[in-house]
Amino acid sequence: MPIAFIGIGSNLGNRIENCIKGIEGISTFAKILSLSSFYETEPVDREDQPDFINCMAKIETSLPPFELLTSLKSLENSVGRKQLDRRGPRVIDLDIISYDDLIIETEALTVPHPRAHMRRFVLQPLFEIAPGFIHPLLKRTVLELLKELKCTKRVLRVDNSSTFYSHKLTT
Ligand code: ADP
Ligand code: MG
Repeated sequence: MPIAFIGIGSNLGNRIENCIKGIEGISTFAKILSLSSFYETEPVDREDQPDFINCMAKIETSLPPFELLTSLKSLENSVGRKQLDRRGPRVIDLDIISYDDLIIETEALTVPHPRAHMRRFVLQPLFEIAPGFIHPLLKRTVLELLKELKCTKRVLRVDNSSTFYSHKLTT
């Protein structure tokens, strides 16, 4: 079955609780194989907003990529995301970082996520759960990408409770 990595983030309300709602929602349509710790991260594109909590999930799913995207978007809505400001604060953000080795370049969906390799808040949790990950397009390991990274934004591991949570989901 296909394997995908989903980046989860929140910087509004109870950020960890929102991420957990996202994780729980994902587990209704995919099998969660592993989850990273939670990280507190500085915002990247628009800096005048609160810090995020981010984590990464490795999932197994029978949903094809566009259906996975649709499911993630409706999950964002049900967790309480308002589609007001794309780059601004959000209750939940669920991004497809990769889907097997597929390369998709459409307006609605770009996979691997076009900015994943430039973001420490993506690469650090990805490295935690998949140190051998190879970027399907750049053909570089997550460790190489981390070493080459210019992004100096703070990414601090705050809690490994999502790791415990993952045991709850998979056992
Ligand atoms: P961002 O995550 O870039 O801050 P949004 O979450 O508002 O912004 O997403 C905007 C649009 O990006 C979504 O409506 C979706 O169609 C599109 N998109 C393109 N590629 C991806 C991807 N890999 N994962 C999630 N959304 C994507
Ligand atoms: Mg998004």
